[in-house]
Amino acid sequence: MKPPAETFPADWSTVDWKAELKNNITSVEQLGQYLPLSEDEKADLDKIIEAHPMNIPRYYLSLIDGDATEDPIRKLSVPTADELIVAGAMGETTSDPYGDDKHDKGNGILHKYSYTALVVATEYCSMYCRHCFRKRMVGLPNDQTVQNFQAAAKYIAAHPEITNVVVSGGDPFLLPTDVIKAMLNALRDIPHLNYVRIGTRAPVVYPMRFFDDELIEFLKEFNREKTLFVPTHFNHPREITPVAAQAVLRLREAGLTVNNQAVFLRGVNDDVDTLVELMNGLVRIGISPYYLYQCMPVARVRHHFQVPLKEGIDIIDAARQRLDGYAKRFKFILGHDIGKIEICGRAGDKAILKQIHARQDHPEEASRILVRQLTETGGWLDDLPEVEL
Ligand code: SF4
Repeated sequence: MKPPAETFPADWSTVDWKAELKNNITSVEQLGQYLPLSEDEKADLDKIIEAHPMNIPRYYLSLIDGDATEDPIRKLSVPTADELIVAGAMGETTSDPYGDDKHDKGNGILHKYSYTALVVATEYCSMYCRHCFRKRMVGLPNDQTVQNFQAAAKYIAAHPEITNVVVSGGDPFLLPTDVIKAMLNALRDIPHLNYVRIGTRAPVVYPMRFFDDELIEFLKEFNREKTLFVPTHFNHPREITPVAAQAVLRLREAGLTVNNQAVFLRGVNDDVDTLVELMNGLVRIGISPYYLYQCMPVARVRHHFQVPLKEGIDIIDAARQRLDGYAKRFKFILGHDIGKIEICGRAGDKAILKQIHARQDHPEEASRILVRQLTETGGWLDDLPEVEL
C-alpha cells in the first residue's frame, strides 16, 4: 500500500519549510498511518527508536514505494530490526569510526587535517538517516554548538594554516536563516579562508528549505566574497525528483557549486545499474559526483548496510565502465580514522589504495600507496591483511 498521493501537498516548493517540520513522522503510530506495519514490526520499531530516533519528512516518505519492503528509499529512512544488531556478520563496530572525538577542539570544532576545520553547527537534521555515521550525535538536543560558533570562528582566525571550513552537523540548513547568516558572517573576514563548505542532505530529504528567497539571496551575496560549496548526499536515483532538482538549481543560480558525497550501501545502491543512473542523474542536474564512501563500521549500521570491499570494487569498476568522464569523477573512499583513503581498484586479489589525507601528526602518510589482501567478507581497511604487490 503506497500512501495515496492526495495525502501530500501537490507542490512541495510552496510548502512553508518551518511549519512542515512539525509534520515529520517521529512515532510508530504516525508511521502506521502511512505504511502497513505488522505488530512485530511495531514492537521492534519502538525499541530501535529509543536508541536512535526516527524522523522522516513527509516529502521523503512520499517517495517510498509502500508495497516493497525492500524499497531503497524506505531502507534509508524507516528503522528495521537489523538496527538492533550492534555488531554482526561484517565484524566489529564503533560509534565513532572517523575518530571525530579525538580531534574535537571544543566549541563544535573538529580539526583533523591541518588545512580543514569542521564545525558541527547543529545536531538536528530534517531526517535521521538510518545509515548515518554520526548516529551517536544526531537527534540529541544541543543548542550549545550554535552559541559556540563565534568561539569556533575565533579558533579558525587564530590558525592561519586552515584554508577551508566545513560547516556540518546534523544539517546546518535546518537552522533558521538569521542563524545561518550570523554563522557565515563570522567567517567572512578571515583572510586565510579560501572557501566554506556547507554539508547538507536537505536538497535530498527536505528540498522545501531552498525556496526561502532570503536564504538564497544571502548565499548569493556571501558567495561573491567567499566561495561557497555545498556537499550534498544523494544515494539513489529516485531521490533526484523534480523538486530536488529545482532546489539544487536555486543554489546553482546563486553561484554555489554543488558536489555529491554518496554512501555505498547494501540494498540501496550496490548494483551497477543504480550507480550508473545515480551518477548520470547527478551530472544532469548540475551536481558533480565527488565521493562514494564505503559504509563505515558503525554500530547498528555496518551489519546490514556494508558491502565487502572485494564485491564493492567490482560493482563500482563495472559502473565506471559505463560512465562518461564527468559522471565518473567520484572517488571511492574509506573515511578512516587515520585519514581519507581512496580505493583505486584491485590487482588480482589485492586492493590498491591511496591515502589522500593524513592526520596532522602523521604528515608522511599523505599520498602513500597501500596494498591489502582482499577477503570474501572484509569491508574495512582493518579487516584486510597487509601484503606487497
Ligand atoms: S542528514 Fe546527514 S548527519 Fe543527518 S542523519 Fe542524515 S546522514 Fe546523518
